[in-house]
Amino acid sequence: MATAASLVMPQKFHGLCTFHIRCNFMKYLGNHYKKNSDLPYMFGACMYEIEEVEQFNRVWEAMVKKHNLENNEWLFRLYRIRNKWAMCMMKEKWTAGMRSTQLSESLNAAIKNHLKLDHDLVQSFRHFNRVVDDKRHNELIAKYEMRQNLPMVGLRQTPMLVHVAETYSPTIFVAFQNEYVESTAMVILRQQDAGMFVEFAVMKYDGGLERIVVFNRNDLNVRYSCKKYENERILCGHALKVFDTMDIKTILPEYIKKRWTKRARAGNCFDRREREIVADPKVIISTCFRELAPSMIKVATRTSMLENTSKVVITVIFDLAKRVEFLLSESEEQPSQNHKNLNVEE
Ligand SMILES: [Zn+2]
Repeated sequence: MATAASLVMPQKFHGLCTFHIRCNFMKYLGNHYKKNSDLPYMFGACMYEIEEVEQFNRVWEAMVKKHNLENNEWLFRLYRIRNKWAMCMMKEKWTAGMRSTQLSESLNAAIKNHLKLDHDLVQSFRHFNRVVDDKRHNELIAKYEMRQNLPMVGLRQTPMLVHVAETYSPTIFVAFQNEYVESTAMVILRQQDAGMFVEFAVMKYDGGLERIVVFNRNDLNVRYSCKKYENERILCGHALKVFDTMDIKTILPEYIKKRWTKRARAGNCFDRREREIVADPKVIISTCFRELAPSMIKVATRTSMLENTSKVVITVIFDLAKRVEFLLSESEEQPSQNHKNLNVEE
């Protein structure tokens, strides 16, 4: 699978699911579990918490030695591919904050709810379409709620929060707002001014790791050691603290990832062979219907007031219907561009 992923998506990072690693940990090292054993904690720290490579290596070696795991083949193989699962190796990789295969697992579960062993191929695809319809329905509901409900901005006088509330999708807005609130509990421990660059040491008021944030006076960008932006594309509390210190009160456009905005679905989407992916054709049909139906009803309502106008409109509609039928029969003879695009894997 790793080979296939690197062939199909050579630019992308391939990480391993931490949930499955933990399952295998139980399978291969379950016999090492004893009451009060710190093996799972040390292993968990290596996977989720330790951010520096040297510290990771120290804890790993100590864990192997303490629990006599020098000859454990599974652990040895896992260590060799640590760049795919250890926090310290992954923090600069773009993962949208995901560490497990939660997305595909949830789709698998949804498909399993609709499939049975005795289904033939046609039935399977028919049921698969139901799953796709359900997902699209959920997406429509989320889209509707995003339009109808305004996000709860905790600090209404804060230009940055007002700005992102208008830009980000509700889920990402909440995540950003949490970081913003966290930034208010940060303190600047040191500040070093070196012309174009200003280096800050930032830490939480009540303790935690010290982070270095370097602010560039020229382009107003920051680089910082916790790498949350690289990993999740959301600015973290450390960076927000520095922006606030430098009196930058709105978020710079380069820090707004389109994927996280309300406009995420705007524009064209292409598959790996540079072919445009067409959106759900059913949605296109229902959008057209929604646009046409009110205008038609309005004309019908107004027309019905007078007999003469009704006659004129009926004649026009008769001609229009003939023209529509002609266009439909023409498009059936020549498959449309949309139809071609739908068969992306042909
Ligand atoms: Zn940070």
